[in-house]
Amino acid sequence: MFVQLRYNFRVTPDAAQRTALAQAFGCARVVFNDALRLRQQARETGEKYVSDGELSRRIITEAKATPQRVWLGEVSAVVLQQALADLNTAYRNFFNSLSGKRKGRKLAPPRYRSRKDNRQAIRFTKNARFTILDNGRLRLPKIGDLPVRWSRALPSDPSSVTIIKDAVGRYFASFVVTIGEDETLPPVEPEIGIDLGLTHFAVMSDGTKMTAPKFLRRAARKLKRLQQALSRKQKGSNRRKKAVAQVARAHARVADTRRDWQHKLSTAIIRDNQAVYVEDLCVAGLGRTRLAKSVHDAGWAGFTGMLEYKAARYGRTFARVDRFFPSTRMCSTCGRINDKMPLNVREWNCPCGSHHDRDVNAAINIKAAGQADFNDRRAQVRPGLVPAPRSEAVTRQNAARATRSVAGIAVL
Ligand SMILES: [Zn+2]
Repeated sequence: MFVQLRYNFRVTPDAAQRTALAQAFGCARVVFNDALRLRQQARETGEKYVSDGELSRRIITEAKATPQRVWLGEVSAVVLQQALADLNTAYRNFFNSLSGKRKGRKLAPPRYRSRKDNRQAIRFTKNARFTILDNGRLRLPKIGDLPVRWSRALPSDPSSVTIIKDAVGRYFASFVVTIGEDETLPPVEPEIGIDLGLTHFAVMSDGTKMTAPKFLRRAARKLKRLQQALSRKQKGSNRRKKAVAQVARAHARVADTRRDWQHKLSTAIIRDNQAVYVEDLCVAGLGRTRLAKSVHDAGWAGFTGMLEYKAARYGRTFARVDRFFPSTRMCSTCGRINDKMPLNVREWNCPCGSHHDRDVNAAINIKAAGQADFNDRRAQVRPGLVPAPRSEAVTRQNAARATRSVAGIAVL
């Protein structure tokens, strides 16, 4: 089985490179928006869907010949092609979501990109001839040689690199690397179910309870205080500007710390267990309730994404268990479904005589359901490619990845 993974590193472009990057970000955005506009106009006037090939011809090749878009020729053509590829992917996901082919939350049609977006990004593929030089710098066509803070080695040649500028003005290089089966870990006995909850970050079927570490909770509290201070500042004032920058920095710090902690936790879980089952949380659904804040703070989606790709990478089993059964009030000993319990009931007794910790009982049920479910499906062909989870990249302002400076250069 092959797995695609993202590896993110901080890059530190100089002033000239930042200018060249800004130009490339701008051109990619213009191409994306022009293409989106063309498709929307075609739909409004009842023309047929503009094919990917025609889109490329009209938005890039022909546009470069016009005085309004002649500057598109100043950036790497691959960057522009990749902007169109992004749009095509967004459309495909949208259509698949409409038809039900794509599971999960319903997706909105593609939206215009703005220069004010928190995240600016461009992608270079292999044929754009990006190279990692012997001196450790990343050479990008028409940008230059960017210094990279290599914090770990790339396991093999990357197939693409995305250059990202986040809300705080940091730059990252995100490499996509395809790895083979050689990283499969030796099999182990234990299998585990995980209940993701509000009182604890995660509770395991073996009774282990994981709480977010103190330093993370402290950083989150500080962020909250800064946000409150910000809301009191007058619009347009200098103090407000300063507060905005403070909040953004604190936000990035919380996200980095959380991500780091979740990486350690997910790696340990995958290393120690042969199979991992979690409840399918429908986080999108929960997100609309008043639990939203704590749900997003907990960052479960990112965490289960880590478990999923690490399982694929190291040859473990990972499955999300559908929420078709009441995992909390079903007795894991006798299977009896008891009455609904308010959130403050942490322990309960079943008429069969079993005494349960609410969350551990749920985790045991999730494990059992996952094992049953997985055995049913074992005969089916499993998908061979796990896409690099977006949570691994710096995709949103709150998903900035931790970067550690470690001496040494990636070995390719
Ligand atoms: Zn019972």
